[in-house]
Amino acid sequence: MARVQLTDVTKQYDDVTAVDNMNLDLKDGEFICLVGPSGCGKSTTLETIAGLTKPTSGEILIGDKEVTNLPPKDRGIAMVFQNIALFPHMDVYDNISFGLRLRDFPQDEMDERVDEAARVVRMKGMLDRMPSEMSGGQRQRVAIARAIVRDPDVFLMDEPLANLDAKLRVNMRTELQRLHKQLDTTIIYVTHNQAEAMTMSDRIAVLDKGQLQQIAPPLTCYNEPANRFVAGFIGSPSMNFADATVGDGTLDANGYSISFDTSAIDGVGNGDAVEFGIRPEDIYLESNSAEAKDPSRTFSVTTDVLEPMGDEIFVYLKPILDTSSEQADFEERQGLLMSIDPSSDIAEEEDVEIVLDRSHLHLFDDATGDAISHGIVAGAGVEADGESAQAD
Ligand code: ADP
Repeated sequence: MARVQLTDVTKQYDDVTAVDNMNLDLKDGEFICLVGPSGCGKSTTLETIAGLTKPTSGEILIGDKEVTNLPPKDRGIAMVFQNIALFPHMDVYDNISFGLRLRDFPQDEMDERVDEAARVVRMKGMLDRMPSEMSGGQRQRVAIARAIVRDPDVFLMDEPLANLDAKLRVNMRTELQRLHKQLDTTIIYVTHNQAEAMTMSDRIAVLDKGQLQQIAPPLTCYNEPANRFVAGFIGSPSMNFADATVGDGTLDANGYSISFDTSAIDGVGNGDAVEFGIRPEDIYLESNSAEAKDPSRTFSVTTDVLEPMGDEIFVYLKPILDTSSEQADFEERQGLLMSIDPSSDIAEEEDVEIVLDRSHLHLFDDATGDAISHGIVAGAGVEADGESAQAD
């Protein structure tokens, strides 16, 4: 178990800055996911912690020890990679104990460690199996056991489940969480899969273009994304976004407006360009508007494609058409994705009324993408808004 600190870590490859001034302070025993799209610098960050890549500048501490220039073997880490490299001619026991044999561990201690690691990954009783006789999940468990026997201070895992089929991946997520509980070891886990990050981590570090965007518990990233990038990356399906302008007590987007108290939010003024975001589950059919904490005025929309998922229905809505702006260019308006209860009897090409939950409407600075507000409150004009909507 160890704390891991990265201070101003940068890794430059010619003209590519793979990691850009990264600062991370990971607690003892924490399960951290580094998450972000392909090429955002997750693996390079992990490699600098592992000692497989030397940072161009910056400092790395594992525990109290500065390790920036130490070789991997002296860092107290163990790695598990996406490609499970088991020795095909060795059985499970030999594969797990390989590193210990290299270091001349006494036989009885080796037996004890292999036994314990095999128990943790539920491979006891299979120690004489050959890799060819095992499933993908079992092979990955052997690779994890091989890391466990080294008794590392920190586990580094780079997309270890990426090659497994979807069902197995979900099972292995649970196994890794169980493993983390049992071992109580710091785990740094790289994935591009936000669902994996959401379900397993104590905190998620979201990266984009080599830079840390936010490090926070999963639900904080979901409910209070630091910026437009995190808001769009965390959550599936993604948040809806639209360009908007702050009016006099209104948020105006694509010809429709929502009343809100602009004075309640610092740094927002009349005429400011913002982007607003709302998650699919924060849009309601008017008939269910009581479920929204702070329903906005109603909007008339037409349903487009429906995607029944079993526990919810994703409803694609055609762009909002407000009579006040019928002349506006239709193409410029964005549609919305709404998630509703599976019991709703809704059809495609149906005219429906929707409301947005203002308390879950996010505002982002149009220029920087930084979050301005998570939730807005109704302004004095809310009733008038509702009436004008009905009059439409
Ligand atoms: P991720 O793991 O998020 O997919 P990487 O850390 O692998 O991203 O890569 C970050 C960036 O650094 C990418 O643009 C990648 O092309 C570049 N990069 C990574 N390794 C090297 C290397 N050895 N030489 C040159 N560029 C590299």
